[in-house]
Amino acid sequence: MNRDDCLALDAADPLKAFRDEFVLPEGVVYLVGNSLGALPRRTSERVRRAVEQEWGRELVGGWNSAGWYAQPLTTGDRLAPLIGVGPGSVVVGNTTSIAVYQAVAAALRLNPSRNVVVADVTNFPTDNYVLEGLGCEIRDISEGLHDDVAVVLLSEVNYRTGERYDVAEMTARVQAAGALMVWDLCHSVGALEIDVSAADFALGCTYKYLNGGPGAPAFLYVNPRHHEAAENVLSGWYAHAEPFAFEPRFRPADGIRRFTVSTPHVLSFAALEASLDVWERVDLAQVRAKSVQLTSLFVDLVGDALELASPREPERRGSQVSFFHRDGYPVMRALIDRGVHGDFRAPDILRFGFAPLYIRHVDVYDAAQTLLEVLDKELWRDEKYAQRLAVT
Ligand SMILES: *Cc1c(COP(=O)(O)O)cnc(C)c1O
Repeated sequence: MNRDDCLALDAADPLKAFRDEFVLPEGVVYLVGNSLGALPRRTSERVRRAVEQEWGRELVGGWNSAGWYAQPLTTGDRLAPLIGVGPGSVVVGNTTSIAVYQAVAAALRLNPSRNVVVADVTNFPTDNYVLEGLGCEIRDISEGLHDDVAVVLLSEVNYRTGERYDVAEMTARVQAAGALMVWDLCHSVGALEIDVSAADFALGCTYKYLNGGPGAPAFLYVNPRHHEAAENVLSGWYAHAEPFAFEPRFRPADGIRRFTVSTPHVLSFAALEASLDVWERVDLAQVRAKSVQLTSLFVDLVGDALELASPREPERRGSQVSFFHRDGYPVMRALIDRGVHGDFRAPDILRFGFAPLYIRHVDVYDAAQTLLEVLDKELWRDEKYAQRLAVT
């Protein structure tokens, strides 16, 4: 495939108009939308309104007049279709790590005769660190599903390799083994067609493919069949049946609201709402189809210049492509210096994420040519690329 073929594919792309909805710096191919999604054009105006109008003029009245109070639920309902679940089952707020804690703690209490949590050692570490903090016994998924397993916590898409679990198959297997299934969707929401409606819990962040902005709130899905029995261990005042009764003892709200914790991050919600205005118009089947095309094109163009760390079959990976390279850090620095932004994950992974709403085939072509040149001419050996920055 040559550059003109890529331009032709872009001209026929049903998602092509969405690129104009984003602020993309000139001369940059941004392949890090799986870490921090690009800025939607409408976000600045929406955040300015939240600051100047809602906060500045309405002051404390904003809790009622601007809908701040209900944001965790109203935003949850808007996000629900992106993960294949119904209204009234998703709450937005806090962070992914907090949602992991809430979901696994609740799941453990729902399955009190068992005490083991199965996780994936290759998962993004915070998920496993939080399990350690919960004090439960942790076992790796490679050790199988025995009859002492209470809960299984997995990421649909692995953050390093992009490898993807079959959510439906795994959920059924875990539940048949008498355990509860908790899915982390950080690297799949906004990149795949998702259906976690059968899972017990699911959670994820909104600042990756969803473009909610740095520090955007996380989401938590609780299957409605658990709404009555599941307990929120972070039983803050927002989750109370009547928060404004200020009762001395905690009494949980009905429904998904019992999984809120406390005051929403109103300004961050404003940014997320702006990005959901975009997502509301997106067909996720088109997103997935384009994602498969983009990642496959990149794999083909890089060819055997690098060892692939991601699955070769597109149906087994998310929207990212990773390669191994012993000197991955300076290679990535050299690439970024030439306008191609990916990232490096220790010890030896070069990671490239493809956000289908704003990445074009021609971007993939240009990124691959730059990568091949950096490798071919060993441009990464320049000393200035050796020193590590705080965030890789
Ligand atoms: C990005 C990511 C997180 C982020 O957690 P925060 O609490 O938002 O810092 C957690 N888990 C996985 C699998 C991730 O990919």
